[in-house]
Amino acid sequence: MRFKRQTISVEEAVGRLLSDLGRLGEEQVGLYEAYGRILARDIAATSDLPPFDRSPLDGFAVRAEDTAGATVERPIPLQVVETIAAGAVPVKEVTPGTASRIMTGAMLPPGANAVIMFEQTEKPGEMSQEVRIKRQLTAGENLSRQGEEVRRGSIVAKAGERINAGTLAILATFGYARVPVVRKPRVGLLSTGTELLEVDEPLVPGKIRNSNAVMLSAMIAETGGVPVLFEGLPDELPLAKKRISACLDQVDLLVTSGGVSVGDYDVMAYLTDEPDVRLLFNRVAIRPGSPTTALVYHNKLICALSGNPGACFLGAYLFLLPVLRALSGGGKAQAKRIKAVLGETYDKPCPYPRFLRGRLTEENGALYVWPDRNDKAGNLCTMAKSECFAIIPPGGRGKQAGEIVEVIPHALPGWSRGD
Ligand code: AMP
Ligand code: MG
Repeated sequence: MRFKRQTISVEEAVGRLLSDLGRLGEEQVGLYEAYGRILARDIAATSDLPPFDRSPLDGFAVRAEDTAGATVERPIPLQVVETIAAGAVPVKEVTPGTASRIMTGAMLPPGANAVIMFEQTEKPGEMSQEVRIKRQLTAGENLSRQGEEVRRGSIVAKAGERINAGTLAILATFGYARVPVVRKPRVGLLSTGTELLEVDEPLVPGKIRNSNAVMLSAMIAETGGVPVLFEGLPDELPLAKKRISACLDQVDLLVTSGGVSVGDYDVMAYLTDEPDVRLLFNRVAIRPGSPTTALVYHNKLICALSGNPGACFLGAYLFLLPVLRALSGGGKAQAKRIKAVLGETYDKPCPYPRFLRGRLTEENGALYVWPDRNDKAGNLCTMAKSECFAIIPPGGRGKQAGEIVEVIPHALPGWSRGD
């Protein structure tokens, strides 16, 4: 299997990854801990919204009939019977010839069918027994009716939705102090490579520090998973199988970096030849990262990403994150693709679609993508500023500046951060 590989598309690879994924169970969390989690159930309105008829502004609750013919020149006087603050329950009825002073959000008194704003009455600042109305109103004007936005029992948020600030406001409105959310997937992280040093170790000849583990752990956490970091794995096959088995017991799925290629010490590639391992794929039509591999072992999924930092970043984005979203029952499976104008020519030939990290700009309503020039396979420093992957189709000619290319945005463009 190591040398005999069947190439599949990104879509096919994601399809195979998702095909036999179960969904994780649910748990209850406090509302203040629910931000970013995935709703496990549909959420129903526990009351009408608004829960009572109320005034949307500061003014006077009146009977529209009583305002007929009112103008600035010929204001109509009404007797003020009550002042209703937000939170209070009115005690007086608005009868013919009367009005109640009412504040924004306060409950509408019985008998009233319209509210006139202070600015359309004479001397609104004076707490007098009488108000003079300067405009004619129609019944129902300036009212928020009970249930006009939401009816009790209707679904206000759906299972699978990621809880954002707006969702939290909805949950609070309907009294959900505890929220049913999907359990976070525990994602094991195993870096392979005898050359890898811990971050706090000094450099020695031939070795490099492990940068993939912390990068992947951030991507996992950002997508709602719990990264579980395992001790690095040297490139030794007998050790690998035992260690991977032990890791799998503790997690919902495992992500590895490195060792998927055809090198003599590529442990993950060797693993695909083991009889108790089910191979999902071991070559995808992408650059960088074509040897990206996926396996099922002990009934658990292993996403085996290339160790090359750029390929690892791309592979995590294209393959791992959709798995995490699907496990949680939310989000679109495939990364969203949009179209943009290529800012400058890229003519390096490639047998597979090439995914170039880049940045996005907008000019006169058109979206431009600017691939990083510094795209050598092992380079990693442009990852921090990357906003998207520009996809250059396979073939000998690449794409010219001004041509349209597909783009996968993966971070908010800099323009929204003001840089
Ligand atoms: P591999 O996929 O194991 O063939 O590794 C490809 C390249 O990525 C090699 O140059 C490795 O040294 C490098 N590499 C592998 N794992 C990591 C890692 N965790 N952090 C940084 N670089 C890595
Ligand atoms: Mg390696």
